[in-house]
Amino acid sequence: MSAEPFDIRPPRSGEPCDIFALKLAEATRPTGLCVFLTDFHLPIETFFYFWCIRGPDGVVLVDTGFTPRTPQSQAGLRHLTSPVAQLAKLEIDAHRIDKIVLSHLHWDHAGGLDYFPNARIFLQKREFEFFTQHPLRLSTPYKKVTFVEDLERITELRRAGRLELVDGPAEIARGVSVILAPGHTPGLQATLVHTRSGTAALASDCYHLFRNVREDTTSCIITDMIAWLESFQRIRKAVSSEDLIFPGHDAEMITRYPNVADGVSRLV
Ligand SMILES: [Zn+2]
Repeated sequence: MSAEPFDIRPPRSGEPCDIFALKLAEATRPTGLCVFLTDFHLPIETFFYFWCIRGPDGVVLVDTGFTPRTPQSQAGLRHLTSPVAQLAKLEIDAHRIDKIVLSHLHWDHAGGLDYFPNARIFLQKREFEFFTQHPLRLSTPYKKVTFVEDLERITELRRAGRLELVDGPAEIARGVSVILAPGHTPGLQATLVHTRSGTAALASDCYHLFRNVREDTTSCIITDMIAWLESFQRIRKAVSSEDLIFPGHDAEMITRYPNVADGVSRLV
């Protein structure tokens, strides 16, 4: 395999983008689930999110959240709200969203596709191929983290011409690009954003918490540990500072950053 898909394509500079984190739910989890083999006995509060980037080409979303119909969303999640309601707090109509980067196909990131009927979805080819074609996609561990109806929906979107399969680094809009960051899943992608503070990364579940960034360690939901550690290196190389790496599930994205509405914060 060529090394090319792992290149970094920095986001185009120019007018900077703003990044917002939109919270969808809360859950208490064992720390060891989020920080590899660490403090299994200690609970930690995690939040579920999707993200909104506002730049010179308009709005790009990262991930879609989920609906309450998934079995996983019924397991211990509190204060559930819909992505539509959260976007409305930024005066954004979900029906007008036309670009969404899907970081990976786990239920909590890919389950809200139906909220965005007019969006083109950008997904890495290897994530699509694994979760729609590989015989092991329906094995017990993968069934725990995906909802089969979401995977069928992705296949339908492909047929309908709304799914753009990306193979490695790609520009999504001015100031917004993606890079491969596998490890948690076979083809997870991180989103790089040109901001007024420099290049930021919406890493999604390549990092679960800020603690994973600080301690350079993965969560316990692993597809390929070696690929994951290489993804850490790639993201660190891409960002202007470690403070601009944003994880998938850290409550501090709401508690430590300025809130512009209830459950919506401005990260940069
Ligand atoms: Zn997640």
